[in-house]
Amino acid sequence: MGAFIARLAMRWPEGEPWLARRSACRSCGKPLQWWELLPIVSWLARRGKCRQCGTPFPWMRPVCEVGGLLVALSAWAFAPDGTVILSCLFGWTLLALAAIDLRSFLLPDPLNLLAALLGVLMIWLTQPDAWAEHLIGGAAGYLVLLAVEFSYRFIRGRDGLGRGDAKLFGVLGLWVGWMRLPDILLVASLSGIVAAIVASRLGSGSLKGTTAIAFGPWLALAGWIAWLSGPLLVR
Ligand SMILES: [Zn+2]
Repeated sequence: MGAFIARLAMRWPEGEPWLARRSACRSCGKPLQWWELLPIVSWLARRGKCRQCGTPFPWMRPVCEVGGLLVALSAWAFAPDGTVILSCLFGWTLLALAAIDLRSFLLPDPLNLLAALLGVLMIWLTQPDAWAEHLIGGAAGYLVLLAVEFSYRFIRGRDGLGRGDAKLFGVLGLWVGWMRLPDILLVASLSGIVAAIVASRLGSGSLKGTTAIAFGPWLALAGWIAWLSGPLLVR
């Protein structure tokens, strides 16, 4: 799944077909053999470079592969009883959203919709009595960030938050219920700010009020933590 998500993240923003075409080096076009597509191992074995032309492969691949593994392991260890498979599917969808947002500042609607549908299925199968709490969470999450988007545009006269972020926050509210939304927003904002500061210190660019920061990855991470920590807190 991690390898598939990396493929999705590298091709979706460019509008390339992400299922049909065979994997190849993006620099010299050399097709990759099956053993060169083995997750994590093959990347390490080639030290992240193409065997033919030496071009470094995108770091997105190992990151997504490790991320896919971490999603499965953390779901197996911490997911609420009876939701391990649904949690994995939810986590992988979040990982895909995060990876695509990091690369292109996009949170594609079909992936947000998939995560929402998985959430509806989860509520229906495991918490049918608590549907109201989750439904309110979905609506509240979407409306809160929509309000932030509109107020920022009104006050500053430019776009500050994408609509995809509001949709993703709504999806997370649907999964964890409205009571956990403040936790998610706090963790997402703090981790996003820390990451932006670290990235600007490591890189050359300085951090300004107009520097674009992908918020989706941090929302996704905070939502994942909130979903998995729910049962821990209850226990
Ligand atoms: Zn090459």
